[in-house]
Amino acid sequence: MDFIFIGNNLAADFVNTEVITPQGRTDLLSSAELLSTWFERAGCARGVKCTELDLEVAKELRAAVRRAFDRMAETKPLQATDVELLNKRSNELTRVLSGTNNSYKFTYRLETTADVLALIAQTCCELLASPRIDSLRKCASEKCILYFVDTSKNQHRQWCSMEICGNREKVRKHYDKNKVH
Ligand SMILES: [Zn+2]
Repeated sequence: MDFIFIGNNLAADFVNTEVITPQGRTDLLSSAELLSTWFERAGCARGVKCTELDLEVAKELRAAVRRAFDRMAETKPLQATDVELLNKRSNELTRVLSGTNNSYKFTYRLETTADVLALIAQTCCELLASPRIDSLRKCASEKCILYFVDTSKNQHRQWCSMEICGNREKVRKHYDKNKVH
């Protein structure tokens, strides 16, 4: 299965690397190489060499972000250990000045797994502390665990995507309506 980018937010997209398939809960980050591929596909960094240990650290962060999102959805306070981890990881984000002559850039350093995870953690912290958190939604399908930030004008987005869950729901409603009782 391919990676899904429907979250409108880097941290949500990272959480969405765990999906429900007909086989059950499936982890799309099943190898260190796939983590590196995800960084590239998400537009974070190219060519980062991820180790098995990096993958473990990444999954620890992903679990913390999911728990934080779940808690927010239930209007419960975040777990102190998750806040601690998010703070620790996001504080690893470094900005660097680079360039020559009159052309300089001041950008995030995104060279290692720790750098990219720091960016993901910081994006998560920013979302948690912003009014946009009210637009964080879990897909309306009971069988789906995908998260997204609803950026639609009327704030009525229900589904992770029409292709994944919206159509499935339409088909189910159609079937229910036409069922012979
Ligand atoms: Zn869905």
